[in-house]
Amino acid sequence: MAPTEESADSTLAQLPHFVIVPLVAQGHTIPMVDLARLLAGRGARVSLVTTPINACRLRGVADQAARAKLPLEFVELPFPTEIHGLPPGIENVDQITDFSHFAPFFFDALPKLAGPLEAYLRAMAPRPSCIVSDWCNPWTAGVATRLGIPRLFFHGPSCFYSLCDLNAIDHGLHEQISVAAGDDQEKFAVPGMPVHVEVTRATAPGFFMTPGFEPLWKQCVDAMRTADGAVVNTFLDLEHEFVACYEAALGKPVWALGPLCLANKDADAMESRGDTSGVRRSAVTAWLDTMDTGSVVYVNFGSVARKLPRQLFEVGHGLEDSGKPFLWVVKEAEAAAPEVGEWLAALEARTAGRGLVVRGWAPQLAVLSHRAVGGFITHCGWNSLLESVTHGVPVVTWPHFADQFLNERLVVDVLGVGVPIGVTAPVMLFDDETLPVVRGDVARAVSELMGGGNEAGERRRKAKEYGEKAHRAMEKGGSSYENMTQLIESFRQSGGGKHGCNGGTVAEACDVHCHD
Ligand code: UDP
Repeated sequence: MAPTEESADSTLAQLPHFVIVPLVAQGHTIPMVDLARLLAGRGARVSLVTTPINACRLRGVADQAARAKLPLEFVELPFPTEIHGLPPGIENVDQITDFSHFAPFFFDALPKLAGPLEAYLRAMAPRPSCIVSDWCNPWTAGVATRLGIPRLFFHGPSCFYSLCDLNAIDHGLHEQISVAAGDDQEKFAVPGMPVHVEVTRATAPGFFMTPGFEPLWKQCVDAMRTADGAVVNTFLDLEHEFVACYEAALGKPVWALGPLCLANKDADAMESRGDTSGVRRSAVTAWLDTMDTGSVVYVNFGSVARKLPRQLFEVGHGLEDSGKPFLWVVKEAEAAAPEVGEWLAALEARTAGRGLVVRGWAPQLAVLSHRAVGGFITHCGWNSLLESVTHGVPVVTWPHFADQFLNERLVVDVLGVGVPIGVTAPVMLFDDETLPVVRGDVARAVSELMGGGNEAGERRRKAKEYGEKAHRAMEKGGSSYENMTQLIESFRQSGGGKHGCNGGTVAEACDVHCHD
């Protein structure tokens, strides 16, 4: 080895080293890749662990990191192949087309990565400083314990949701709901919240509370209890009380480091986020360039939720009836049905000049940061909501499942930047025959969001204000920037990471605000 390589290696060995293990799902991998880039950009060494198909999707990010000489490596572990029942070639949640493939098959495959991960880490000298693994990857807990490496869990939803979820577990809310005699819409208060929050039997379930997922859910909760702390994608000016109460309820540090999407500073970074095979950013932004400032409503339901044709038709008619300019993202699998393809082409012809339909993956950050976009119809995935708020864009909320109903409550009731479309129950991912939203709901919500009047103006003002605070949080001196400094420093000095996050102020905030 040449002397320069040797000295580079020894410098690398002295850096605090974070091993990041995302769940292989876009909504989980995307923010953790952003986290990896931010940590590496701030002087830590980072290894991001994934599988070959997912690594392929991340090639653009890997190339950019290499060009910027960031100490960030992508580690490929072979996806376990011996899983009976899981079609070959599936390595990401967004490739699953049959709900029955999630559990047991897909989530049975992932723990088999523990052996290869442990072998990879054992071969490393010195041992990494810290593992940051997704809340949904409980199989990393045993690896960290066996190797004596501290472990933080990354929890992707809003802290508001995470606190509701933890309080529901700790105070027996799920048991209370399951024995109650009322119907699915009976309301239950979530205990221990600093604000009044109600859920129903239909909207209470969080991640993995669906029948069939119970063992996985229990493992996730156990791994959360034994972790050394949590990393969350939020910022104190958005969720100060909820971070405070979550930290108190967990009894361990909660590092608020977001909005992580602001790791993407330029067009290249925005375009390579998630899936580079999608529509080119330039085609979408060229269309947006022709539109008036704040005039376009953007419509996208994240990386997983899929709609049947008749629900798609209601969305399209609603957008047409609203009379507002729109940019609607329809997944390839949704557009593949012949009747949908023809219908979309006819819609585009009728709304030429004010409507654009993107088929497949869209460069969402480039869209939300464009001056022409004035509103977003979203399924309330936390990444989408946070990306919207970060760019000062108010939302129409249409939650589908998991954390999304509680994320909706946060943006509508607490932050005041959302208009509910009016759904009250979750949908199945792929084959839901119900029609929770009809064209009138879409047109009404879009007019409320994009229209004039005091309420619409106030939503826009608040969204803009949160957007400015989001950017400040990530700048030097901002809360998330300083939290990241402390996180890195605590592992440089002691291998602990136990104290000092959130400026030490959050625990006091919780003492003041949390109540049962
Ligand atoms: N996303 C994107 N283009 C798309 C669909 C999704 O860039 O066409 C990104 C979006 O910006 C977000 C993530 O994928 O970062 C989706 O995460 P979210 O939590 O909103 O929803 P999920 O996909 O987990 O349901």
